Amino acid sequence: MSMSLLADANVRLEEALKYVSISEDAFSRLKYPKASISVSIPVRMDDGSLKIFQGYRVRYDDTRGPGKGGVRYHPSVCLDEVQSLAFWMTFKCALLNLPFGGAKGGITVNPKELSKAELERLSRGYIEAIADFIGPDIDILAPDVYTNEMIMGWMMDQYSIIRRRISPGVVTGKPQTMGGSKGRDTATATGAYYVINTILAKYNQIPEKTSIAVQGFGNAGAEVAELLAKAGYKVVAVSDSQGGIYSSQGLDIPSIRQYKKNHPTVTGVYCKDSVCNIVEHEVITNEQLLTLDVDVLIPAALEKQITEDNADKIKAKYIFEVANGPITSSADKILESKGISVFPDILVNAGGVTVSYFEWVQNRNGLYWSLTEVQERLKVRMIEEAEAMWDIAQKMGVSPRTAGYIHALNRLNEAMSAKGTRDYYQAQHS
Ligand code: NAD
Repeated sequence: MSMSLLADANVRLEEALKYVSISEDAFSRLKYPKASISVSIPVRMDDGSLKIFQGYRVRYDDTRGPGKGGVRYHPSVCLDEVQSLAFWMTFKCALLNLPFGGAKGGITVNPKELSKAELERLSRGYIEAIADFIGPDIDILAPDVYTNEMIMGWMMDQYSIIRRRISPGVVTGKPQTMGGSKGRDTATATGAYYVINTILAKYNQIPEKTSIAVQGFGNAGAEVAELLAKAGYKVVAVSDSQGGIYSSQGLDIPSIRQYKKNHPTVTGVYCKDSVCNIVEHEVITNEQLLTLDVDVLIPAALEKQITEDNADKIKAKYIFEVANGPITSSADKILESKGISVFPDILVNAGGVTVSYFEWVQNRNGLYWSLTEVQERLKVRMIEEAEAMWDIAQKMGVSPRTAGYIHALNRLNEAMSAKGTRDYYQAQHS
């Protein structure tokens, strides 16, 4: 039977807890979300009817700062999912040393079935319903699955209307004309690239001799594939929901991206048009992509792609999780027994939330940074935390994932202890 996302996330926490001693108070607090809200959102549809949608916002922990996390629009959104995503955000923000706690939100909806006007009314209605639960110093929203900068713009505008003051700091991932940051759109991939490059150098992997397969050719996957190819790595396979393509000599990523702009799938890319003869290629399935004999595998599509059913067939030496939760905890054990090093989502894809933090800082200061400034700050922070996680893994002899959780837990524990715990008060009285 497959585990709930929150139960699966907790397995990683329990593994890390074997190696850190945190106060009993901190442990008790981290087991439960601090606050969850469920709301019903009435939306007037284009045909005049009224439809009610279910929405959620969860603030898992805010010891280190206001909650921070995206809003997901998807038919499968439910409270359990939102709570587990908020739990992940808590650890991601602590790992990156951002002054934020973890939060997440969502609406149970298939946004593709709504008109643009209905989508706007739904997004504004969601803010109406949760306005007292969020704020620039309380809980800050961002885009996630099927939400984008246009929706973030509506949300920030609606919050500002309710509060009767312009409040750009309540939402990140906004259009730049409304206070969005330069570099936010490519931040996840750029951050992942810095981490991958830093870690592979430790294994003396020379880019030109390193083969890479990327699952998922969307915002994150296509950009990270291009950055790696530009740096000299051999990106030999990419895929989207329709299938993948493979060439042992390496693929021409910019051409594939150009092709994707005008056509729906990557598999068609070498079959017609001018890029047809650039390299020899094979059309492969997604399952084949995951099990290719490559040095590096990058899941950048969906959760639960590597499970106990296919983990045994994975041949890559290193996996970098650009997607959230692409590997289940039961697959973790199989990969570890095969000597495969897995670098976790809470570090690898944290470039997005890091530039969201930069956006929030810029909104509060009213002073906006150049793209170079954003990327330089992102680089420093991603490399610093990748190095710290690596050092913990080496010193303690644990997997990079467990090292990431240990690093984050230590920071959460410190913050909780500083606010006062039983140990703290007992020490005062002894
Ligand atoms: P996206 O929708 O732009 O792209 C997803 C890609 O995956 C598409 O190319 C889609 O065709 C492909 N895909 C879907 N099902 C697939 C399958 N079964 N096999 C192979 N490919 C498949 O999404 P995105 O923004 O690139 O996000 C991808 C992942 O990265 C998600 O897990 C997301 O949570 C995570 N992530 C993204 C960001 C960000 O800033 N974009 C930040 C943090 C985490």
